[in-house]
Amino acid sequence: MGEGIGEGKANGQQFSSSSSAVRVIMCLMRTVIYPGSFDPITNGHLDVIQRAARLFDRVIVAVAENDSKHPLFTLAERAALAARAVRTLRKVETDTFDGLLVDYAARRHAQVIIRGLRAVSDFEFEFQLALMNRNLNGAIETIFMTPKDTYTFLSSRMVKEIARLGGDVSAFVPPHVQKALTGKLRSGR
Ligand code: ADP
Repeated sequence: MGEGIGEGKANGQQFSSSSSAVRVIMCLMRTVIYPGSFDPITNGHLDVIQRAARLFDRVIVAVAENDSKHPLFTLAERAALAARAVRTLRKVETDTFDGLLVDYAARRHAQVIIRGLRAVSDFEFEFQLALMNRNLNGAIETIFMTPKDTYTFLSSRMVKEIARLGGDVSAFVPPHVQKALTGKLRSGR
């Protein structure tokens, strides 16, 4: 693809004559980042991802390092479980990131960050996060999505707790995640 296509703006992002056409196409695509710990990915996350894929050209499921949350699965394991869960979804890809979310979103030419809202209890934290991210980069919007009502009670934390106590989590996570949970808990982490 050629260079020298002039200067201009695509979706609010400036491109210069030295930008490649590929870069411009990336800017024109409606790209959304869905960030989270995904420790592990659940059917609630997948519900949000599928909804987002109907609205955007590209959905990037971005697995955050989040060491402070002491995740059960390593970053590589969480990313692999997420990648397998979305492998049949054409517009969806997975990635990992560390550092500021807005910087990562800008690097990936994303215009939007998606967060899930399950209940009022999620609201205060998510609201603060969205405002802080807007403060850091006003060009990136945060939008909220609610899952199907049967998933509003679902969280990775609850799934881990149920699995830890020997309960059946097959209704809440894909089969490969259920298997990984069993293996991880059996190995004592
Ligand atoms: P984080 O540590 O960033 O909260 P999570 O993996 O727990 O990471 O969640 C990522 C995002 O997905 C958050 O916005 C969270 O509110 C949302 N989320 C988690 N579970 C569900 C669910 N069952 N339905 C809808 N959204 C969800």
